[in-house]
Amino acid sequence: RFDKDFGQHILKNPGISDAIVEKAYLKPTDVVLEVGPGTGNITVRALEKAKKVIAVELDPRMGAEVTKRVQGTPLAKKLEVILGDVIKMPELPPCDALISNTPYQISSPLIFKMLAMPNPPRIAVLMFQREFAKRLVAQPGDALYSRLSVNVNFWATCRHIMKVGKQNFKPPPKVESDVVRIEPLIGSARPNIAFEEFDGLLRIAFNRKNKTLRAGFNQKEVLSMCERNYKVYCSLNNIEIDESILENAPVLPEGDVNMDMDVDGDDEAANEEGDGMDEDEEEEMPEFFKEANEQQSAAKDAKTPSRNPKSKVALVVRAKVEKVLASTGLADKRARQCDQNDFLKLLLAFHDEGIHFS
Ligand code: SAM
Repeated sequence: RFDKDFGQHILKNPGISDAIVEKAYLKPTDVVLEVGPGTGNITVRALEKAKKVIAVELDPRMGAEVTKRVQGTPLAKKLEVILGDVIKMPELPPCDALISNTPYQISSPLIFKMLAMPNPPRIAVLMFQREFAKRLVAQPGDALYSRLSVNVNFWATCRHIMKVGKQNFKPPPKVESDVVRIEPLIGSARPNIAFEEFDGLLRIAFNRKNKTLRAGFNQKEVLSMCERNYKVYCSLNNIEIDESILENAPVLPEGDVNMDMDVDGDDEAANEEGDGMDEDEEEEMPEFFKEANEQQSAAKDAKTPSRNPKSKVALVVRAKVEKVLASTGLADKRARQCDQNDFLKLLLAFHDEGIHFS
């Protein structure tokens, strides 16, 4: 009767439904968003405490069931059921609190959707599979540390609240669950930067979380994206592309930009030794600086500007990326070791150079 594809594991222990609602510290003025009310075990408790519950349910049978459950009671007028996929909604409905015995397939997109809200709820109490909950509270250096961990701890605070065994559900899921409480930073406490920018930077950094940030940011596609965004940024802000950075290019930063040496297998070991890995490469001039030098001398010889302005922008962007990585001291760190302050420092330094990620 329950649909596994919809992640339907109904809470059969009323004590846990009570605890979820209790831990949200609902006020009588609160609008609560519940994702996946199912048969309404959590919903009815939230309705008793709050002004209104908006329940978004994918399965129309469940939508009908929760509606029927409160029909003819004073709770009915406080309930709004929206049938549909919460992830496909352009934005989550505005709310003070979010609660959910989360269908496991949407754990990650649901959190991202909530954190990206300009005015997120004050509190979220959410049930997740244990492995996922561990990712939320993972710290730099932990195996489960990820883009998700950084985002959650940057835009919110997150606490583990309780463990929930699989026998508390019908049908029981394959794995154990945990309830977490996430309190997004709201109002003036919310970092004054665009979610998409911070997350865009994290996507790049964690795309290869065991590689150095220099390797991550020097991938071809990343540089092309930075170049595209830089051109848009310059034209929107009426800024002339500043090629002066190339004049300083021969003054090389420490380290290297050789992408190949950090590629397979041994970065765990390199990291544990803590000595980087690139001694014999240190004197090597990065490829793009060589190109810059060549272009400069060619331009000098001809006493004309470069005849290839397109690749000049690419060089400018590469030099800016290198400058940011070197000046922040993060070039040789790996995403798995960086904390949220490192990522913020990096993002602000990129922004200072006009480099954007969304
Ligand atoms: N809240 C109920 C409880 O705790 O007993 C049911 C929880 S059950 C784990 C997840 C519920 O989310 C199911 O009712 C399922 O139909 C619904 N659901 C699954 N995917 C959804 C989605 N993308 N959007 C909205 N609801 C969804």
